[in-house]
Amino acid sequence: MAARTLRIGLIPGDGIGKEVIPAGRRLLEALPASLGLKFEFVDLEAGWETFQQQGVALPDKTVTVLKNECDGALFGAVSSPTSAVKGYSSPIVALRKRLDLYANVRPVKTVVSAPKPIDMVIVRENTEDLYVKEETTRDTPEGKVAEAIKRISQRASGRIANIAGEIALRRQKIRATGSPSIHRGPLVTITHKSNVLSQTDGLFRSTAREVLTASPFRDAEVAVEEQIVDSMVYKLFRQPEAYDVIVAPNLYGDILSDGAAALVGSLGLVPSANVGEDFAIGEPCHGSAPDIQGQGISNPIATLRSAALMLEFLNEEAAAAKIYEAVDGNLSEGKFLSPDLGGTAKTEEVLQDVLCRL
Ligand code: ATP
Ligand code: MG
Repeated sequence: MAARTLRIGLIPGDGIGKEVIPAGRRLLEALPASLGLKFEFVDLEAGWETFQQQGVALPDKTVTVLKNECDGALFGAVSSPTSAVKGYSSPIVALRKRLDLYANVRPVKTVVSAPKPIDMVIVRENTEDLYVKEETTRDTPEGKVAEAIKRISQRASGRIANIAGEIALRRQKIRATGSPSIHRGPLVTITHKSNVLSQTDGLFRSTAREVLTASPFRDAEVAVEEQIVDSMVYKLFRQPEAYDVIVAPNLYGDILSDGAAALVGSLGLVPSANVGEDFAIGEPCHGSAPDIQGQGISNPIATLRSAALMLEFLNEEAAAAKIYEAVDGNLSEGKFLSPDLGGTAKTEEVLQDVLCRL
């Protein structure tokens, strides 16, 4: 069988992004040849440092190369100035827009042997809702009044529900390969507040339900539940093991995904992917962590898991499963843990341990 070659853009960004993205590259290079995968890497720039050098945080070249030459990418982290700087805006937000990466996918997982195992994925709609940023302020006799548009479309709600369903099915497939799991069957929970926002969240809810209860998800027996977002937060903390895939509009998804990340202890463990029709960017959830930069102690696991997640969306499930298994092995043995997890291992030692397990 001819090996498939994947071309991956590497955007380290700022701070510890420069430490963890090289670890992600080495992980991909170390995947066993039997998987039939080859990688080519392209180094690309974005971030605060890039802005200071070039006057733009996201050079056009980065976008063009990703669009025209790459299958996927790994994005590290970017520092942002503490107060607004003229001309600077977040490059990852811009990238999501320019590549139409409409889904933000965030798995939150403990090792299966943990006292309270958690294994969920939050799938957040990434293009609309209150984040269309159409805000206005006007003066009234009673003082200022500010308003924001919350836009929910059938199209965006439908495609996010669809990808949530696909993720549920794929997780089921990865479980079937023997990866340990706490879930029995695929389950998608639709999050909304349609008891109050009957039109906007109502449309999200009904569209998502329609998609998820139709073929192919119905045939594969994907269970569909709904939950109002406030009670969801409560249950997320009381009974996180109950969730498999959660699908949510932009704002609730943003809040839920940071909340869920807190359940597993360190930001250094939580991956994400920004996904479009035929492109995926793996991105660790943490920021540039200037407080630990340069000490060689940043936890690479969020990035390693992000690389696996990217591979899942490039239809390389076997390679992804291999990485998840190696990372879980490292965590459950607990011999090489970075300081954020209470260990003393350096970034390099954690990486070496994971590579050995591949
Ligand atoms: P930014 O402004 O770029 O978000 P930050 O100062 O908010 O930077 P975060 O990256 O969000 O920093 O991290 C918050 C805390 O979590 C920091 O104390 C940081 O050291 C820790 N942390 C984040 N990522 C990691 C990691 N990969 N390994 C170890 N510790 C981490
Ligand atoms: Mg931060």
